[in-house]
Amino acid sequence: MGTKSFLKQARRAAANELPFWKRKTLAQMSKQEWESLCDGCGMCCVNKLEYEGTGELAQTDTCCKLLDPRTARCKDYKNRKKIVPDCIQLTPKVVEKMDWLPKTCGYRLVHLGQDLYWWHPLISGDPETVHQAGISARGRVISEDLVEDISDRVGSCPRTWCRRPLIGPPERPPRVRRWRAGQRPAR
Ligand code: SF4
Ligand code: SF4
Repeated sequence: MGTKSFLKQARRAAANELPFWKRKTLAQMSKQEWESLCDGCGMCCVNKLEYEGTGELAQTDTCCKLLDPRTARCKDYKNRKKIVPDCIQLTPKVVEKMDWLPKTCGYRLVHLGQDLYWWHPLISGDPETVHQAGISARGRVISEDLVEDISDRVGSCPRTWCRRPLIGPPERPPRVRRWRAGQRPAR
């Protein structure tokens, strides 16, 4: 074998050793790979408000009525669109446009060419680590059904780093426009 073809093969082997999220784009992933990119944090199902005029986003500590706050999972993922029509189905194109996905979201990280964090189940091998790391919605949010006005809940984001960039004294009352996303991708 010539040097050139050996190097070519070696490069290919080295590339194949990289985990799929480092060598594939979102659009190239298989269904199984795509689904495994969700770390199960549930933060995309936490209600956010957008301020009119500035477009600023504010986190609340309320979640979609279908999110189970004890597990941070959708209670009826299969039928969710019938119950919550504005639930957004994640696809590679949708991820590209959604600047409000949490900075820790696996889809967002891969889209931006960044690596997954240590707590991601694909790294740790344990779906519990996302909760242990304190970055998930589990046990930290309440259902929107239990709240009269979710705009009263601004500034109560369960994750401290969400508050810094997103919360300032609002100059205008928030427009009640909810942004949420499905926890799992298009099938
Ligand atoms: S899709 Fe939602 S639940 Fe999954 S990692 Fe992203 S923010 Fe978390
Ligand atoms: S996946 Fe959609 S319907 Fe289910 S909890 Fe999240 S936002 Fe609600």
